[in-house]
Amino acid sequence: MENKSLVYDLIILGGGAAGMMAALTAAAENKELNILIIEKNESLGRKLLATGNGRCNFSNMDQSLDHYRSTKPELAQRVLSAFDLEATLKFFDSLGLQIRNEEGRLYPRSNEGKIVPRLFAEAIRKAGIALKLQTNIVRIEKQKRGFELFSSEAECFKTKKLILTPGGKATPVLGSDGYFFPWLKANGHKIIEPEPVLLPLKLNLPRLKRLSGTRFSGWAQLKNAQDRVLKDVQGEFLFTNYGISGIPILEISRFAVQALSQNQNVYLLIDFLPEYRPEKIGENWLGLNQEELVLTLSGFVHSKIAEYLMQMLIESKGPIAKLNREQKEYLTELIHEFKAEVRGYLTFKEAQSTMGGVRLSEVKINSLESKYIQDCFLAGEVLDVDGNCGGYNLQWAWSSGFLAGKSAASDFK
Ligand SMILES: Cc1cc2nc3c(=O)[nH]c(=O)nc-3n(C[C@H](O)[C@H](O)[C@H](O)COP(=O)(O)OP(=O)(O)OC[C@H]3O[C@@H](n4cnc5c(N)ncnc54)[C@H](O)[C@@H]3O)c2cc1C
Repeated sequence: MENKSLVYDLIILGGGAAGMMAALTAAAENKELNILIIEKNESLGRKLLATGNGRCNFSNMDQSLDHYRSTKPELAQRVLSAFDLEATLKFFDSLGLQIRNEEGRLYPRSNEGKIVPRLFAEAIRKAGIALKLQTNIVRIEKQKRGFELFSSEAECFKTKKLILTPGGKATPVLGSDGYFFPWLKANGHKIIEPEPVLLPLKLNLPRLKRLSGTRFSGWAQLKNAQDRVLKDVQGEFLFTNYGISGIPILEISRFAVQALSQNQNVYLLIDFLPEYRPEKIGENWLGLNQEELVLTLSGFVHSKIAEYLMQMLIESKGPIAKLNREQKEYLTELIHEFKAEVRGYLTFKEAQSTMGGVRLSEVKINSLESKYIQDCFLAGEVLDVDGNCGGYNLQWAWSSGFLAGKSAASDFK
């Protein structure tokens, strides 16, 4: 019997942030099109539920290019300008989303991230876009005109044009596992080896487990072996049993990953009390015994950090009957310039984004169509752009999804 397969004008492979935006944009651009979204998960926008700690930090008021990284930032800028912050706000308003602005970070007013995929799903339903959920595409075949997509259940979907939005490799449990990079490579793309970013770092510190679970509000610099500052950050940090986490660490992680993947050593220089001037702090600690000192220090930092610093002080400068000047100077140094070697980073499993992927120079930047695969458009994390914490990765997904959707649909006119 003939294998009956469905034929579409446009298939969007991957129903995440970029894919949903691409589908809605294409449908708005050309209402005649027969559009299908194929998604492996049981619902659209599954990853969005995990974003912003469940609150979905979907964009940021500060859209300066410094918040984005790419090997071709000037090309990323062109895509971002095609669907900028103003257009994004207008779009979410049209979906019915009320917005909360927290120091520039934008969230749903309700603080419930799940409203975002729900609003998208409703708009997609109203636009008459077909949906195939729980469908894992395992093979794409380029035809003379168009593509054939095959699922793990051997279903075949035919399409004239394809928008590929399968994400990068970050948090594969939510669906994005880099599955199509080999296919893109086989079709001529030179993929920049994907690396995980926005993730915790592993530290080389003696007795690290004693610090595990403690938080501190501080400041840190990431430095290389030549003591050059790669990035400095401040905010709330968390020691873990393998190293260190917290939003500032996620922000610094990209620089650590870049250096470590090139076999360069990097370390963190931590200031536990940045608001206190080093020459002022501890002047009246002189003469305190060990117990008194731990108690006093615990008023400034978590008691486990106080005990840890005390242990380092004793190891280096001997027991403390009465804190002398030399010991005090060393303690001040530990507080303001605590050195911790970065020995690695966690994996894609724990990463929020992907560095690398398809080079922007390998897509037509006005349309996001692949330069090697005619009628195949790319958007979202599969492309070589990643952003800082603060809503930048989703902004990239919205902007690139918009451009791919608009271009693919307008090709039919
Ligand atoms: C825990 C976490 C928190 C985050 N928080 C934020 C935040 O607050 N703000 C922010 O801006 N960014 C955040 N991000 C990053 C942001 O979510 C991503 O950059 C963005 O979702 C990427 O969009 P995308 O559409 O390119 O890919 P994805 O959202 O990953 O979507 C890709 C989709 O394609 C589907 N797919 C993949 N392969 C197949 C296949 N073979 N067959 C069928 N379907 C397939 C996947 O199931 C998935 O649904 C966070 C990420 C994580 C993991």
